[in-house]
Amino acid sequence: MQKIFSPKGIELNIQGLPEASILETEPPEKIGILVDKLPGYKARLKVKQGDRVKLGGVVFEDKQRPWLQFRSPAGGYVESIDYGPRRVIRQIVVRIEQPEQSLEFERIGPQELADMDRGAIVEAIVNGGLWWAIRRLPFRDVPDPEPVPPKIFLGLAAREPFSPLVELIIKDKRDLLLFGLQVLRKLAPEVVVYAHAADQQVLRTAGDLINLVVEGNYPADDPAAVLYRSKKSAAENRSWYINVQDLLLVAELLSTGRFPTQRLFAVGGTRAPRKSHFRARLGIGLQHLLGGQSVQPGTRLIGGGILRGYELEPDGFMGFFETGLAAMPEGKEAEFLALFRPGLGKPTNSRVFLSCLRKKPFEFDCSCGGPERACISCMFCADVCPVDILPEMLYKAILADEVEEYLSHGLLDCVQCGLCSYVCPSKIELTATFERAKIDYAKQVAG
Ligand code: SF4
Ligand code: SF4
Repeated sequence: MQKIFSPKGIELNIQGLPEASILETEPPEKIGILVDKLPGYKARLKVKQGDRVKLGGVVFEDKQRPWLQFRSPAGGYVESIDYGPRRVIRQIVVRIEQPEQSLEFERIGPQELADMDRGAIVEAIVNGGLWWAIRRLPFRDVPDPEPVPPKIFLGLAAREPFSPLVELIIKDKRDLLLFGLQVLRKLAPEVVVYAHAADQQVLRTAGDLINLVVEGNYPADDPAAVLYRSKKSAAENRSWYINVQDLLLVAELLSTGRFPTQRLFAVGGTRAPRKSHFRARLGIGLQHLLGGQSVQPGTRLIGGGILRGYELEPDGFMGFFETGLAAMPEGKEAEFLALFRPGLGKPTNSRVFLSCLRKKPFEFDCSCGGPERACISCMFCADVCPVDILPEMLYKAILADEVEEYLSHGLLDCVQCGLCSYVCPSKIELTATFERAKIDYAKQVAG
């Protein structure tokens, strides 16, 4: 089994992690589809407010790629369609009606799967409305089925705080996982299944499926970081990846012919009323995950990881790619005599505070500690970057709109891990700038 080590990154010593147990949730009355959080989609609606939609029915398609359809994870009627600036569709809410009507899809047995060619598998996933589960590097968007990628990465690892534990995700799902792997092997000549060396439980239960072990701090297990440390040729930069939960959805769709609805969510953060894992429907409302309890004033709800996720409204819904919810203090309150405090309770990467000696987890908050300031060339950002970028230089090249220069500084290797922004004492929005630049570059390449 191949091993790779990522020498940089950070392991956040954070309070409020979810317990390693699964709670079932009450069936929801409605679900939400956060359309503007699906990367690369320009949605064209296939329903209007008040329309009835079946579980698995099409709700919208991509304007540029009409074959890329998005199907409803609930049967009922379209309660609302919310628009953002310039009439961009932001969110679609489906109120569930009982008995829930659902569509049936082609059902594929293991032997049939073995006999199918790549085109037939692609068609089954596309028709089933789950092609969005597959993502392409380096842009992290949804790929066209062609050209065939050199590899697909499947991570049985999740080091980002507040991500669901993989050992819980794959528990009792071995057959489905094997089926999913068979599907992936039809889509690309090589499938890299990797786990983190610290996840002993995962290595024990799925060791025979794993062909790469990664070691190192967050984000050593991100597919882009794994690609960076393991690639042997530039052609591998066009690899795809899929999250293990999304692969299980695809496997369930193809093996049962029913549109899958359930996944595992992790809820944590010191302000979360219940810190645990929850099995719930795709597009579940936050209120459901919080057990109907309101959070304290001054709490921020973050979906998709505290370093690269986004803020959610308490009455909002989980995005389709987000499986972690964190409830954290805003931390905007001014600290009394802050200058004279030794900083024992403040997490530090630069070892400025005495807290660098502390072993106990910290309560993180969302405070930036002041507005953006000029870069002081401290290079803390370079010290943590898992893919050896000099973020300060990359940032300057992007601001100057020097395409060749920012590419040579490794923009396309950027994992969008959020660490450079996290450690930057000048509070410069490095990661968000790199993310925007990547999206703009992807559009240029696409013409
Ligand atoms: S440049 Fe920043 S966001 Fe990108 S990989 Fe490096 S540390 Fe992470
Ligand atoms: S961490 Fe911030 S201030 Fe320091 S070099 Fe990087 S961008 Fe500049």
